[in-house]
Amino acid sequence: MNISVFDLFKIGIGPSSSHTVGPMRAARKALEDLPDLTQVVHVKVVLYGSLALTGRGHGTDKAILLGLSGLRQDTVDPEAIPEIIDAVAIDNEISLLGRHRIPFSVADDIEFRGREALPYHPNALRVVATLKDGSKTEAVFYSIGGGFILKEGETSDSTAADRVPAPLAYANAAELLRLGRDRTLRIHEVVRMNENAWRSNADIDAGLDRIWEAMRTCIDRGLIIEGTLPGGLNVKRRAPEMYRQLQGKGVKMPHEIMDWVSLFAIAVNEENAAGSRVVTAPTNGAAGIIPAVMRYYEDFCPGATRAGLHEFMLTAAAVGALFKRNASISGAEVGCQGEVGAACAMAAAGLCAALGGSNEQAENAAEIGIEHHLGMTCDPIGGLVQIPCIERNAMGAIKAINAASLALRGDGSHNVSLDQAIETVKTTGADMQNKYKETALGGLAINVLPVSRVEC
Ligand code: SF4
Repeated sequence: MNISVFDLFKIGIGPSSSHTVGPMRAARKALEDLPDLTQVVHVKVVLYGSLALTGRGHGTDKAILLGLSGLRQDTVDPEAIPEIIDAVAIDNEISLLGRHRIPFSVADDIEFRGREALPYHPNALRVVATLKDGSKTEAVFYSIGGGFILKEGETSDSTAADRVPAPLAYANAAELLRLGRDRTLRIHEVVRMNENAWRSNADIDAGLDRIWEAMRTCIDRGLIIEGTLPGGLNVKRRAPEMYRQLQGKGVKMPHEIMDWVSLFAIAVNEENAAGSRVVTAPTNGAAGIIPAVMRYYEDFCPGATRAGLHEFMLTAAAVGALFKRNASISGAEVGCQGEVGAACAMAAAGLCAALGGSNEQAENAAEIGIEHHLGMTCDPIGGLVQIPCIERNAMGAIKAINAASLALRGDGSHNVSLDQAIETVKTTGADMQNKYKETALGGLAINVLPVSRVEC
């Protein structure tokens, strides 16, 4: 499996990995692939399926403008984004990859075709460039979850395609466990040895530290930034008030640690909803669960170490890669079970490993984590990554700790395997009606906000 821990944990911007980060990367790559950018006189981007149906709420149009401008999700300053977007709208011009200006109408040159879907994946976009000689060149991209993109005609995301094969290949959890038994390796050691095919141990550790730092910073920012989230639902940020309450004096309840875990997750997902800097884990919509559980480990578990945090992330990455390979981490493809469910399973396995659990216990923890999210739909109100997403991350984080704890109380043997649960995510997702797959056409999205805000 050629998926790196740094493919799953990517520093980017909110509010959505599939609807923001993926389209931004696709728009930039479409232009980078052109032989001569100076020949382009016009660009049009057409969004299909879920990208069109919830694209406005998820900021897809803004992401397209950023990508066409040549900006990268990991380096763009989130604070500068509104000014960049406004400039395109006011000037009716865009600077392609920051070096070739052409006329551009935000209203006409980004088209939302929610009633049309392309065959491979519900999140599709087409970039059509018109050249000076009147000819047109076009490319179709699929945003397949977690910020991964697939260009039509290619077989894998370009970030993974060019790598040498990982030496310790495994296609499912059973093979991963067998590898661990045969070679006396823990899961995080298997992942590290594969990662070593692409980078040194020093680079892996520095990269993991950078990811954790970005997650921690996101939590800390979310704890103090007050206000109302954008998008029109008038959702008030609640992390700062919760933070004040938890710091206050007064009677401490035995379950207060749960409130801290919820707070960490909510802080991250409020930051995500605001379009700030976040880390996909494995997606933006589910970005709060793993940081919240890692922070729980660091702040509340005696004996927590930097090495333990690294074991957590590497083990979680192994589980995330299995979901990506054998089911999906895209809410538009399998519903929220593939986002919050996958994140919960990853966090459960990571915590279990960091607390000294065996490979079998970590696999058990991941299985418990996903088993109790099976069938969970994606029905974001107003097409925004706010309700139910923010609170759902708090619930996912608590479940992950519970799952790790249950697994640690056993010996790793259990009835339902992680592979069977992941297969169930895939088949349940295939059976799920489209209105429950990031379209804002069903569930809470229409029962709470009956007047559809979806634009087709
Ligand atoms: S409901 Fe779940 S899958 Fe859907 S946008 Fe929210 S977090 Fe993502």
